[in-house]
Amino acid sequence: TNGTGTVLDTLVIGGGQAGLAMGYFLKAQKRKFLILDASQRAGEAWRQRWDSLRVFTPAKYDGLPGAPFPADRLSFPTKDELADYLEWYAEEFELPVNHGVRVERLWREADRYVATANGHRWEARNVVVATGSTQTPEVPAFAAGLAPSVKQLHSSQYRNPQQLQAGPVLVVGLGNSGAEIGLEVSRTRPSLVAGKPTGEMPVKHGKTAARYAFPIVRFLGLHVLTLGTPIGRKVAPALKAHAEPLIRTKTKDLAAAGVRVVPRVAGVVDGMPVLADGTRLEVSSVIWCTGFREDFSWIDPALLDGGAMPRQWRGVALDCRGLFFLGQRFLYAEASDTLPGLSRDARYLAAKIPAPAVLGSAVAA
Ligand code: FAD
Repeated sequence: TNGTGTVLDTLVIGGGQAGLAMGYFLKAQKRKFLILDASQRAGEAWRQRWDSLRVFTPAKYDGLPGAPFPADRLSFPTKDELADYLEWYAEEFELPVNHGVRVERLWREADRYVATANGHRWEARNVVVATGSTQTPEVPAFAAGLAPSVKQLHSSQYRNPQQLQAGPVLVVGLGNSGAEIGLEVSRTRPSLVAGKPTGEMPVKHGKTAARYAFPIVRFLGLHVLTLGTPIGRKVAPALKAHAEPLIRTKTKDLAAAGVRVVPRVAGVVDGMPVLADGTRLEVSSVIWCTGFREDFSWIDPALLDGGAMPRQWRGVALDCRGLFFLGQRFLYAEASDTLPGLSRDARYLAAKIPAPAVLGSAVAA
C-alpha cells in the first residue's frame, strides 16, 4: 500500500523531467498517483552535472507540458536554470512527489505492481518507469588498471577543472560531453580527447541555429527517425549504440584550442592508457566521457526481457498490462530521451494507461 492502505492508480518511478511530464498528464486525468524519486529535490539530475553546462536545445523546446520555459525562446538555459524550472514546475502543478525514495524492487502480484524502498511498500495498478537513461555511468573495465596516481572521474562526477591534478588530461570519448569537457580543461591544462566523432551538426550552434536549424532537427528527431518509419527502424540500433553527433563543440573548435584528438583508447599498460596503435599516454588525470547504461536491475526479471525493456511499443509493455516506460534512449523516436521527445511520449502514454473504471471492472470480473 502507499502507507495509507490504498492501492494507487499509477505509480511513477523517477521524478526527473520525464516523471514530472507524466505527472502533469496524470493530474489532468485526476488519477490517484504518486511519483517516487531518489533525489532530494526536483532538478537534481541537472544540478549535479558540470558547472558550465548549458542545454543544447533552445528554450522554445525546453518547456514541459503546460508551461513554456521562461526565457528568450532562442536562448540556451544553464543546467541550473533548467533544474530551477523543474522544481517550479512540480510546485506549480502540485505534483505529488516523494523525494529521497530510491525504489529497490518492483514486481507484479496478482492484479497490481508492488514497489519497495527504505522498508516501505507501494501498490499500484499501473507503473511508469521514468528513471532516466543517464543515471548509471559506463566506464570500460580496464579503467581499474590505471595507476593510483592518475585522478579518474566519470563525466557525471566532473564539475570543473579544479578537480583535476596539474599535468596532461585525457578525456576518453568524443561525444558531446567529451568535446565540451575537453575544450574546457584545455584552457588550463594540456589536453587530449580520445575517440572518433559520430558526425557533427553542420551548422554553428547558437541563436541562428535555434531559429532555422533546430526546427528541422526537431522534426527529424520527432517525426522521421522513429520506430514507425522504415528509415527510423533502420538507423535506430546505430543511433542507440553511438553518441549523438557533436552539436555545440566541433572538432575544429578542439583543434583551434590546441586539443589533440587521438584514436580510441584500447586499454591500460603499466598503469597508463594506451591507444590501439600501442601509443602509451602519460597523463595525470582521465575523464571518462564514455556514457551511461540503462539500469533495470531493481525490476523483477520476470517483467523484463533479459535485463532490458520488455517487448514494448512507444513505452507500453505489450505483455505486462499496466507497465510503461518513459525517457529511455530511442524508446520510440530519436528525440525520446530529450525534452521535446519525452513530453510527447508522456502524452501518448497517458492516453494508453487503462482508465480506472475499466480496470476496476476488469479486476472485479
Ligand atoms: P533524469 O533527469 O535522469 O531523471 C531520472 C530521475 O529518476 C532522477 O531524479 C533519479 O534520481 C530518479 N531515479 C533513478 N532511479 C530511481 C529509482 N530506482 N527509484 C526512484 N527514483 C529513481 N536533453 C535535451 O532535451 N536537451 C539538452 O540540451 C540535453 N543535454 C544533456 C546533457 C547531458 C550532459 C546529458 C547527460 C543529457 C542531456 N539531455 C538533454 C538528455 C536528457 O534530457 C536528460 O538526460 C534528462 O535529464 C533526462 O530526463 P529523465 O527524466 O528521463 O531522467
